[in-house]
Amino acid sequence: MTIEKNKLTGTIFNIQRFSLHDGPGIRTTVFFKGCPLRCIWCHNPESFDKSIQVTFDQEKCIECDICKGVRDISTSERCPANAIEVIGEEISVEDLYSEIEKDKGYYETSNGGVTFSGGEPLMQSEFLVKILKKCNENNIHTAVDTCGQASKEVFEKVNDLVDLYLYDMKFIDNDLHEKYTGSSNEKILENLKYLSDKNIRIFIRLPLIPGITDTEKNITEVVEYLKRINFEQINLLSYHGYAKNKYIKLGINVELDQLETISESRLEEIKNKFVSAGFKTVIGG
Ligand code: SF4
Repeated sequence: MTIEKNKLTGTIFNIQRFSLHDGPGIRTTVFFKGCPLRCIWCHNPESFDKSIQVTFDQEKCIECDICKGVRDISTSERCPANAIEVIGEEISVEDLYSEIEKDKGYYETSNGGVTFSGGEPLMQSEFLVKILKKCNENNIHTAVDTCGQASKEVFEKVNDLVDLYLYDMKFIDNDLHEKYTGSSNEKILENLKYLSDKNIRIFIRLPLIPGITDTEKNITEVVEYLKRINFEQINLLSYHGYAKNKYIKLGINVELDQLETISESRLEEIKNKFVSAGFKTVIGG
């Protein structure tokens, strides 16, 4: 896509249509590049960096020499083996909106809409505000999937334009939060309380990583913490795949060799703890 000079653009790395996992109904999920956290289990490490990246996969390379050893955006399209991959694109509000609008009929019949995810969409708040406004003007339901690590001013800018927050929680214990996400949870919990006090519609999302976030201690602390928060439901997200290969291609240190899957019985046990606390609890989503 050609973009006019000086036009406001966002950097995204994927647009997923017909998604059933990022909020109610049929949705289009737009993945923003850039994230302030570094959760070691993240299966979208291509979202970490806000800039457009180029990766090279040695295993796919057939050594045809078409690229003459230059592996960048200019040679990626000519590589016959798809060994050179460009991650991310700059997109204007208008172009992104035309993608979102394509499925308006499905949103209307399923009570769905658009979800801005990532990465952390609030890191590109100026662009986010513009695309949210456009969706609002056209009566498209909007959700923002956030890790919560943003300033209050940013939330204030977008709150009136967001129908639903998908708010990620990992740990209540700050030391564990720092250890596994690279960042303190102080602001994250503060922002959650602030949104809760404003009675904004929130779905909490808790990733269940065996031995890391699914421990008795963490689950108990999360349940107790949420008793003080106004939210509509909690989604328990069980992770199945760990994108080790993506980390290698991006040159990011692999901290988890592989991700174990939480057992069905443990998942049910955890669900029951949230249900017993009176929370609407959904596995997946
Ligand atoms: S064009 Fe692609 S397949 Fe050919 S040498 Fe370059 S990276 Fe390898």
